[in-house]
Amino acid sequence: MSKDVWVIIEHQDGAPKKISLELLGRARELAETLGGTVVAFVPGAGVSNVAESLGSRGADIVYAADHALLQPYTADAYAQAVSQALQAEQPTLVLVGSTAQGRDYAPRVAARLGAGIVTDCASLEVADGHLVATRPMYTRKTIGTVVFSSGGIRIAVVLPAVYSVPPAEAGRRAEIRAFQVALDSKGVRTQVREVRAIQRETVPLTEADVIVSGGRGLKGPENFALLDALAKALGAAVGSSRPPVDSGWVSHDYEIGQTGKTVSPQVYLACGISGAPQHLAGMSGAKYIVAINKDSNAPIFQLADLGIVGDLFEIVPKLTEAIRQAKGRA
Ligand SMILES: Cc1cc2nc3c(=O)[nH]c(=O)nc-3n(C[C@H](O)[C@H](O)[C@H](O)COP(=O)(O)OP(=O)(O)OC[C@H]3O[C@@H](n4cnc5c(N)ncnc54)[C@H](O)[C@@H]3O)c2cc1C
Repeated sequence: MSKDVWVIIEHQDGAPKKISLELLGRARELAETLGGTVVAFVPGAGVSNVAESLGSRGADIVYAADHALLQPYTADAYAQAVSQALQAEQPTLVLVGSTAQGRDYAPRVAARLGAGIVTDCASLEVADGHLVATRPMYTRKTIGTVVFSSGGIRIAVVLPAVYSVPPAEAGRRAEIRAFQVALDSKGVRTQVREVRAIQRETVPLTEADVIVSGGRGLKGPENFALLDALAKALGAAVGSSRPPVDSGWVSHDYEIGQTGKTVSPQVYLACGISGAPQHLAGMSGAKYIVAINKDSNAPIFQLADLGIVGDLFEIVPKLTEAIRQAKGRA
């Protein structure tokens, strides 16, 4: 068993995703405490650009696992590849992003290896020689503290945006090694026929620093234009609670909450959202929550750092204008 800390890199269009950079930053700190090196593992096909970018982001060693069966992503192929690498190299800790992909393959890897796994980690520390994680539980009504009790490989599936991305260190290089994975095509039980990208003009919700979100209080699809204008002024992404998705006002990729995305922006602005537990489950990790609601008893105000009681149809356009003017003065 090595003392190394691994990060399984998620990437798209030849670049690592923000979550992977966050995890590399945290891996650097943990590796210093544990006395190991930071290893980035890059599964995919044609991953050399991704691999080369990771030294400046904190990786000491990068394993490029190039295989045609690893592109496009399937849970079976990733589980095979990641398990083989971990089995061979035996790192003490493996960080995986709590994304659609990470949540999909990481438990399969843990099951194959008999490794300990903690999902939805909101923090990860070394305390008294133990690895200790916190994780929200019961739709974030409580925060559990979980200790990895056994030795062996430990897998932490870490929520996005709980660690910041450290600045790139220009000139820092990692040692890049090819990792030969032997994948059994019969073990890959799904076939991806088509990948359709949803075109959004703004940054993805899970990577946004500021999110403007709308709920049933918006009353109709046309009124999301108000949020689009505010988001544009702020440089924010637009999200929603579930009713606008169920009503077909916006597509499912807007949804935040238990059955939608988990987000942790610096600022979350909830407009016409009551604050049901299933919505809070996806956004209560935001650093600063602002709520606009005409009902002063709306549960969202119990969580909000700043509450505005009033009609969003009056407030949002004024806020947009004020931000435009403030930015114009800057
Ligand atoms: C298994 C399960 C999973 C679920 N998963 C999710 C999930 O992932 N995400 C999610 O969001 N929900 C989820 N839900 C639904 C959840 O329980 C709530 O029904 C939903 O979050 C409510 O959305 P809302 O706040 O937009 O609507 P409402 O609860 O109807 O609230 C609308 C709010 O708008 C305010 N309002 C109305 N007009 C105005 C105005 N002009 N100006 C200002 N404020 C105004 C009202 O005062 C009210 O507080 C789930 C439910 C279940 C059972």
